[in-house]
Amino acid sequence: MITHETDVCIVGAGPAGMVCGLLLAELGIRVIVIEGHSDFEREYRGEVLMPRFLQTMRQVKFFDFILAYPHLKLQGFELYVKSRRVAEIGIREISKEAPFILWMAQPVMLNAFYEKAKKSPGFQLLFGTSMIDLVYDGERVNGIRASSQGEPVEIRAKITVGADGRSSVVRKKGGFELEYQDHDFDIIWFTIPKPPSYDNKVRAFFSDKHNYLALPKYPRHVQCGIIVETGAYAAYRSQGIESLKTELLSAHPMLREFAEGLKDFSPFNVLAAKAERVKAWARDGLVLIGDAAHTCSPAGAVGVSVAVATAVVAADVIADALEAKDFSKNILGRVQALREKEVKEIQYIQSRVSRIISARGRFEKAAAFATLILLAKTRIFSNIQRRLMVSRGPLPVRRWRG
Ligand SMILES: Cc1cc2nc3c(=O)[nH]c(=O)nc-3n(C[C@H](O)[C@H](O)[C@H](O)COP(=O)(O)OP(=O)(O)OC[C@H]3O[C@@H](n4cnc5c(N)ncnc54)[C@H](O)[C@@H]3O)c2cc1C
Repeated sequence: MITHETDVCIVGAGPAGMVCGLLLAELGIRVIVIEGHSDFEREYRGEVLMPRFLQTMRQVKFFDFILAYPHLKLQGFELYVKSRRVAEIGIREISKEAPFILWMAQPVMLNAFYEKAKKSPGFQLLFGTSMIDLVYDGERVNGIRASSQGEPVEIRAKITVGADGRSSVVRKKGGFELEYQDHDFDIIWFTIPKPPSYDNKVRAFFSDKHNYLALPKYPRHVQCGIIVETGAYAAYRSQGIESLKTELLSAHPMLREFAEGLKDFSPFNVLAAKAERVKAWARDGLVLIGDAAHTCSPAGAVGVSVAVATAVVAADVIADALEAKDFSKNILGRVQALREKEVKEIQYIQSRVSRIISARGRFEKAAAFATLILLAKTRIFSNIQRRLMVSRGPLPVRRWRG
């Protein structure tokens, strides 16, 4: 058995775990982050980063650092209903502070945080190490058991952080209860080469059959998404590739070449548009952050932004807890107290948007289109975008005040 002893053990090297670990390590705190995978490679995961992510990066002074890595800046959003453009919003109009949406591959972003974290001697990242169970001292969590290439690993920590995403093992093993769940639709993602005339705008297309998303992707691609009923991808697979090919050929001329070349399902990746929120995010010695505490729906593409904001607040609270030598849920529960209001508001807006996105049947669709067109004519539309994409103010932390 390999054993480690540290101040903070973070399970999961996604955006939340890496940002929390990096900030703590820069404060001189000993941190071990464990990651089940052997590297950061992943696609279609949190690549579209909203102004609220950039606001957080600015607050913790990582803005210039992160923008030094390969990225695209997306300047606007267009909404089409039955081929007619009904709304166009420039990001500059809704966010002066961070006037663009950032497209950055998640492996690039995570590697950037890792390179920075490695400069702090107290930081360790153990790849290929999967958490299996929590270790308790009475009622208090004081570390984890994991496995690394079949070898048992035990990490004793003053504070354990569950940053292991939407299917969190920490959440299950810690017996955390959900207080909110929603799942209206799925998105089937795929990528096409960027047509020469395509600019750097995000587009949503609503049509009688399915709704589509098109997002410019670095360096010269467009990431496309088909919004389908929950579980519909399994039905496409059982029918064979021809039915999905027919669907794409009738969707948009931009997809023709990709659809004609389709041979199997390998280019596709499915995102279940689940939203969840845990009732109490902390217990003695343990706190959940990011998707493990609050999975956001893809409506508005704010999952990473919200996860990273919670990670920053968590780093601040954990540093306070270590200073006070108090690892109880009273102090760790402050993460939830400081973040829950905003998370709830975002999930509420997403649930309203999801109803429109997932409308089915002639009458429901007609009502959804009428609502969209009406909203697009008023300021309500840009207000909804602003409330989803842009943070109202700095995060409530003692240490990184901008
Ligand atoms: C297909 C898809 C597309 C998305 N697109 C966007 C987008 O464009 N913009 C956006 O903002 N958000 C998007 N999201 C949401 C976004 O990816 C998440 O909100 C964000 O990554 C959450 O960060 P996190 O660090 O909390 O969790 P994650 O990114 O899920 O990271 C959790 C990490 O924990 C590791 N892990 C899990 N279990 C264990 C274990 N037992 N032991 C050790 N390690 C473990 C995982 O391997 C993973 O690396 C998308 C999500 C999906 C699934």
